[in-house]
Amino acid sequence: MRFVVHGQPKSVVNCHCNLCRSLNGSAYSTYVAVAEDELELTKGEPRTFAISEDVSKQFCDSCGSPLYNTNSVYRGLAILHLGALDNPRAWTPQANIYCESQLDWVEKLDQQKSLVQGFG
Ligand SMILES: [Zn+2]
Repeated sequence: MRFVVHGQPKSVVNCHCNLCRSLNGSAYSTYVAVAEDELELTKGEPRTFAISEDVSKQFCDSCGSPLYNTNSVYRGLAILHLGALDNPRAWTPQANIYCESQLDWVEKLDQQKSLVQGFG
């Protein structure tokens, strides 16, 4: 799958909601939300999995990597997975959202850095 985004992201966030955690198998998900009509699919067609009436997940038809989500609550947005972008370092999250579901250890990581042996 290849795609191009025309225009600038609407937002870049870390989502800590339970649905994203479950969908993506990760503690939280970093998303780059762009206007759906500014997303051009240039190679391949994503496969779509309907999570619910409101939420769909698009993923690569050849490797299964998650590409983006759509959610009728956020109509008009393609919610791209940061890791699906060629240049993920170009985007820094502006906010954490759905923090009420955030795992307790996430915000404590920085404080524990000195305790980690061999990782820096
Ligand atoms: Zn979420």
